[in-house]
Amino acid sequence: MAPTGVPNPPPPLGEIGADGRANPRISSAFGASEVAGSGARLAPATGKTVGWAQNTPVTGSPSGPSRPPLPHAPRNRMRTAYLFAATATLLPALAAQENEPPKFEPLAADRQKGFESIDVETCTAWLTYLASDELGGRETGQPGYKLAADFIAARFKEFGLKPVGGDGTYFQAVPFAKVGPNVETSYLAIRTAEGEELFRVTPGKGLGGQISEKSDREAEIVELVANTVDDVKDADVKGKVVLFTDKSSRGRRSRATFELWRAAPAGIISVNDEAAATVRRRIAAGGSRNSARRGRFRRPNTYSITGELALQIRAALKEHGTLTMKAFIEIERKPVFAANVVGFLEGSDPALKHEIVGVGSHLDHIGKNGQRINNGADDDGSGTTGVLAVARAFSVNGVRPRRSILFMCFSGEEKGLIGSRHYVNNPIFPNENMIAELQMDMIGRNEEFVNRRSGEVTEKAEDNVNSLHLVGTKKLSMDLHEVCLEKNSAHIGFDFEYDEEDVFGRSDHANFARKDIPIAFFFTGFHPQYHQPDDTVDRINFPKLVRVAKLVYSVAFEIADRDERIVRDRLFKDVPRTRRRR
Ligand SMILES: [Zn+2]
Repeated sequence: MAPTGVPNPPPPLGEIGADGRANPRISSAFGASEVAGSGARLAPATGKTVGWAQNTPVTGSPSGPSRPPLPHAPRNRMRTAYLFAATATLLPALAAQENEPPKFEPLAADRQKGFESIDVETCTAWLTYLASDELGGRETGQPGYKLAADFIAARFKEFGLKPVGGDGTYFQAVPFAKVGPNVETSYLAIRTAEGEELFRVTPGKGLGGQISEKSDREAEIVELVANTVDDVKDADVKGKVVLFTDKSSRGRRSRATFELWRAAPAGIISVNDEAAATVRRRIAAGGSRNSARRGRFRRPNTYSITGELALQIRAALKEHGTLTMKAFIEIERKPVFAANVVGFLEGSDPALKHEIVGVGSHLDHIGKNGQRINNGADDDGSGTTGVLAVARAFSVNGVRPRRSILFMCFSGEEKGLIGSRHYVNNPIFPNENMIAELQMDMIGRNEEFVNRRSGEVTEKAEDNVNSLHLVGTKKLSMDLHEVCLEKNSAHIGFDFEYDEEDVFGRSDHANFARKDIPIAFFFTGFHPQYHQPDDTVDRINFPKLVRVAKLVYSVAFEIADRDERIVRDRLFKDVPRTRRRR
């Protein structure tokens, strides 16, 4: 799941800074439409055991091994009439059935074998590797990402999927580059108004920081100390070099910094001994093109210098009144491996196999913060494990559906849904032939929400053992939505929730929807470990992950095999836009 503020819809390649950080100036164009119920059905009054956890959760539930969690009334949120009815139906039967596992229908005989192949043991082994420290948080363009991609490709090969990437591989190249200053030629020179050079620093020698835009500018230096964000708003710094001290926030990046970017200075000097010692090379979307745009405004270079040099500059400012800084920066872009991993299962019907069901996740995560690894077990190691599980299920099932399936693990999702955007703009098969895309992103946890300010727990993990967010289906296809509901109630029994439409624009399916392809996004919800180093494999609810994968397999098989293609109700441009709720 990408952070909020991923530009939506995204600008052309190369226009966003690809460091994956939140940008509070840009908000989602999509909101909380269709929060509840319009497509839901009442459960049949047969006492059928919908709504129970089929398996025992690994974490987060006080329930014992043979005891499914109690159905619960929804608090402070809207769920569907379906759930209310199911809960009401269940209550009298609970005591008698407490020790009996819930009963679900098997799938049709031609697909049951694949369904049964999806198991906790295999998924645990895969995700334990994907979320291991060895992969370093799988940041796009880093060595750990390549290891992860190799692992997926090896599994796809094992499953007998067809390599449909470049040159007979499973890799569809996505242009990304490591961007930084040429250390041989770049420099900063501080000069008096008369042109006398007082100080000079070069990258790695007294000059570090985030330098990703070329420069051949000389501009006046002004000092700015921000105690509040208003100090920046009031300052006239356009076209000047700002020696910046941010006292408005202890966070790594404050609103004052964003305001400063918006004010379009020629450059920012930041005083930080540690940063001054290292040249940071950003991994950015795009090949040889250079741009430091982020959203709607240009992000100026931030030059980190030592505290000692800052003192000398201040002294010189006092002495000379006016100083200028010449920034001569040449940028190098070195292409890095950042491929989408794609595997193809050909359909069995010559007349229908040109139609394709997409099954996707994102393979990348956010890498490291300094030495701390963000393992990304749930985000999106879990969904990637789901893709592997579904792919293996189709493979071992033997009988293939009539239409084809394309399995896709995307790169650059955390940097702005880049890999999936590259796919839909350079599709391996025509977009018109993709009948639906099913996305799994964060499918391994029990939703948990703690208000950071008040400390109030508004979503408890133990209440969400059996809940699954179904996002975005109703935007383009009620037909697909209905198939998801049917397969769930017949074979799986999650409590679907429809209150996360806010996240519609935050994973790869959004790029498919924008190409008018019906999508379903499966998501078990946020938790305090989202984008934190403790999003680790030991916190994953594997039985739940397995059930999501089984659901996706059931839905994918159904829509790939039935007579009629999934009906698209409307084009994406005709989907009503709604405001964000929060
Ligand atoms: Zn994420």
